[in-house]
Amino acid sequence: MKRCLALLAALILTTVLPAAAGPDYTALRAKMVERQIVARGVSDPAVLAAMRTLPRHEFVPEDLRGMAYNDHPLPIGQGQTISQPFIVAYMSEALGVKPGQKVLEIGTGSGYQAAVLAAMGAKVYSIEILPELSRRAAAVLKRLGYGAVRLKVGDGYKGWPQEAPFDAVIVTAAAPHIPPPLVEQLRPGGRMVIPVGSGGYEELTLVEKGPQGKVSTRGLMAVRFVPLVREKE
Ligand code: SAH
Repeated sequence: MKRCLALLAALILTTVLPAAAGPDYTALRAKMVERQIVARGVSDPAVLAAMRTLPRHEFVPEDLRGMAYNDHPLPIGQGQTISQPFIVAYMSEALGVKPGQKVLEIGTGSGYQAAVLAAMGAKVYSIEILPELSRRAAAVLKRLGYGAVRLKVGDGYKGWPQEAPFDAVIVTAAAPHIPPPLVEQLRPGGRMVIPVGSGGYEELTLVEKGPQGKVSTRGLMAVRFVPLVREKE
């Protein structure tokens, strides 16, 4: 009888437990980085390392975790979305941030993009207009050891003048035009990546501020983002 029980226990341990542990997120994540990101030309080692490490599934609603490493955006509540993994990687690479640099993000959303930049060594400041999303992002960032990311609730169009200048600005909602306050808060030599346009078609745009403050813009690719909404004055 005892042996029988021991055998049964061993059987349970080897067959039931692994299944109960759920999907192998580490394997899904490795596959995501190779097939969706490296295969499409993103090669910055800091971006790839961050995305290989960060548990993206922790940033999405619990019932969607199994889809966290799929090749598309996902809803995160309040009508908002976490961007497709490739877009996060592409924008992070285009931003070209170095460890220790100050980065401003507009549209905290789930907190995932902020975490990627923090994992790359940036000092991240992120503004979200919906308090509930900001609160949730704060909790997950803290839980994962990224409590140093500074979050603020408000209209990101106006930037974060108290903390300016920034080495880089990343806007993760579609703006009808490039917000002048964000250009102003960019340090000379700094870069901004922002989807510009409206109505479901936007151009991901790279804004560069020269050492003398001269601003130039360049279109990178066609994208779709949720719109940047303005706070009522
Ligand atoms: N970067 C996010 C995805 C953002 S989705 C992530 O990694 O998950 C775009 C976010 O921008 C939404 O959460 C939306 O509420 C927010 N947003 C829209 N307009 C805004 C504004 N004016 N200021 C700050 N956040 C804004």
